[in-house]
Amino acid sequence: MTGRAAAFVHVDPERCCCSGMCVLTAPEVFDQSGEDGSVRLRRPEPPEHLLPAVRRAADLCPSRAITLVTPGP
Ligand code: SF4
Repeated sequence: MTGRAAAFVHVDPERCCCSGMCVLTAPEVFDQSGEDGSVRLRRPEPPEHLLPAVRRAADLCPSRAITLVTPGP
């Protein structure tokens, strides 16, 4: 593992309903605003070993506010 980004994460704080599921699922990647609780990205380009947790967070997000973009071949 090189630690190099294998994918990019995009979040939409406008859609976020502040459930906190992403922070519980992948705390290395997601955070919540101290002001309104909406999602913030800690690591927009997470290393490969964190991608399963990011995919899980995207699946669990009730607002569909998380997008994982994997670069093509
Ligand atoms: S799981 Fe979705 S709705 Fe909940 S805090 Fe994260 S981005 Fe927001």
